[in-house]
Amino acid sequence: MKKVFDVVIVGGGIVGCAVAWYFSHFDLEILLLEKESDVCCGVSKANTGIIHSRSYWTPSTLKGELHLRSLVLFPQAEKELNLHSPQTGALTVALIREEMTFLKVLKERGNISGAEIIGPKESIEIEPSLNPRIFACYYDPETRIISPFALNLALAEFAALNGVHFILDEEVTGFESMGNRIRILGRNDWYLGKRVINCAGLYATKLARLSNDAVSAHRFFRGQYFVLDRECAPLIRHVLYPVPTEESKGILVSPTPEGNILVGPNFEPVDEEDTATTFWGLKEVEEGARKLIPFLPLEQTITTFSGLRPTLPERDFRIFFSSSLPGLLHLCGIESPGLTASLGIAEYVGEKLKDSGITLREKRISPRTAFPVFRNCGFEERERLIAENPDWGKIICRCEEVTLAEVKHALSSPIPASTLDGLKRRVRVMAGRCQGGFCGMYLPTIMMQELDCDVKEVFKSTRGSFYLLGKIEDVVKENAPTC
Ligand SMILES: Cc1cc2nc3c(=O)[nH]c(=O)nc-3n(C[C@H](O)[C@H](O)[C@H](O)COP(=O)(O)OP(=O)(O)OC[C@H]3O[C@@H](n4cnc5c(N)ncnc54)[C@H](O)[C@@H]3O)c2cc1C
Repeated sequence: MKKVFDVVIVGGGIVGCAVAWYFSHFDLEILLLEKESDVCCGVSKANTGIIHSRSYWTPSTLKGELHLRSLVLFPQAEKELNLHSPQTGALTVALIREEMTFLKVLKERGNISGAEIIGPKESIEIEPSLNPRIFACYYDPETRIISPFALNLALAEFAALNGVHFILDEEVTGFESMGNRIRILGRNDWYLGKRVINCAGLYATKLARLSNDAVSAHRFFRGQYFVLDRECAPLIRHVLYPVPTEESKGILVSPTPEGNILVGPNFEPVDEEDTATTFWGLKEVEEGARKLIPFLPLEQTITTFSGLRPTLPERDFRIFFSSSLPGLLHLCGIESPGLTASLGIAEYVGEKLKDSGITLREKRISPRTAFPVFRNCGFEERERLIAENPDWGKIICRCEEVTLAEVKHALSSPIPASTLDGLKRRVRVMAGRCQGGFCGMYLPTIMMQELDCDVKEVFKSTRGSFYLLGKIEDVVKENAPTC
C-alpha cells in the first residue's frame, strides 16, 4: 500500500528546500518532488545571491514582511546548516542630486546602526574603483552575499539528513482530491499527501490554474549577467546598487563569496522560458554597470548567464490555499527577494499549515556538517587531508583547485550530484576560468566509475543532455556509411 505523507513539497528550489528544512524540525513524514535531476535547477540557480538588508524591504507587502522575518532567522539557520554568508556591506549610488531622495528613504527604512549617506570622496576611499563623478552613496553595512547553490544544497541536505524523502526526475502534472487526502499525479507515479505545497517557481501559477485556482499567470522577466574571473576580486569590496528603477533593483556590480564578480541583471520581458543571453541584453548590462565602475574589465568575463523572474501583476508574493482542494497551498510570484525571504516564507508556510490543523511536534535534529573545501584550507590542513586520503592530493579542476576527494564526496553526499552541472554547483568544477576545458576531460571517467554508469549516461544538465556520444571506435562504427 502507498504511504501517505503528512507534507508533500513540489519543487526543489531555494523555497521548496527551505520549506523542507523548516518541516524537517518536526515529527512529520515529508516528501519533496522535483522535476529535474537535481535540486537548484530553476530560478534559484541564476540570481545575484544577495541577502538584501533591512533597507531594501518593501513596506506593506507580504514579500517585505517575510524578508524582514527571514533576516532574523538567518543567523541561527546558518549555524545549523554550517554555512557562511560574508557581510560585505553595500553602497547604493546616486549619480545625480535628484536621486538623493531615495538614499534618504533607504536610510530611514533600514534604521541600521552604522549606515550613512556619504559624499563622493568618502565613497571612493572605501570603494576606489567607483565612478568619481557620482553625487553621493548610501553606505549600508548589513548587506550580505551567499552562494545560491550552497544555500539551496545546504537546505536540501539538512532536510534529507533529518528524514525528508526526495524524489528527483518526477514532474508533477496535477492534483486530485481523495477524501481528506490529495493525490499528486507525477509523470512516473502518484503520491498521497495530507498537505501539499506548490513551490514550483516559474510553474507555480500553471499548477495552481490546473487545480482551478484563480491566480494570474506569471509573466517572466529575464535578467542577464556577466561573470568576471576571480582575478578581478580586488576590484570591488561592496555590493554596488544603482538607485532602483520602477521594475527592479537595477543593474548591480556584486562580489560573490567565491571571489568572482557578477555584473547584472537587466530586466526584459520574455514570452516563454527563454534563458538565452543576447548581445543587446548584455550591452544594456554593460552600459548600466559602467555608470558605477567606468573601467569594468569585461574582457575578464569567463561566462554569461540569465535568470527569469516569475512575476504577478501585483509584484508581490501570493501564498494561498486552493479553493478547490483543501490542503493544497500555492506559492506564486516568488521573485526577488525570494532568496533573502526564503526562511521567512518557510516559517509562514509552517504557520499556515498549523492553522489548517497539522500538529508540529519538535524532534531531535542532526545539524549538517560541511565537507572541507581544499581551496580554502591552509597548508597544514591540506597536508593532514592528503595524509588521511591521497584523493585530496589529486587536483581535478586546476582553476578552482578542486580535488578528487571533493568530487567523489559530491557524488555520494546526502543529495548526490548526478550530472556535470550538479558537480559544478556543489564543488565548482567547470566553474573557473577555463569553464571545464581541463577538468571536463576527467570528470566523465570519475562519474562512470563512482556512479557505475555508461558513457552515454554522463549528462551535462538534464537527462538526455549528452556530454559524450560514446567511445570513438563505437561512434565511428555506428555512423559509418552503410553503402
Ligand atoms: C535575475 C534574478 C536575480 C535575483 N536576485 C536575487 C537576490 O540577489 N536576492 C534575493 O533574495 N532574490 C533574488 N532573486 C529571486 C530569487 O532567486 C527567487 O525568488 C528564488 O530563487 C525562487 O526560488 P523558488 O524555489 O521559488 O523557485 P525555483 O528555484 O525556480 O524552484 C522551483 C523548482 O520547482 C521545480 N518544478 C517546477 N515545476 C515542477 C513540477 N511540475 N513538478 C516538480 N517540480 C517542478 C523546478 O524544476 C525548480 O527546481 C533573483 C531572481 C532573478 C531571476
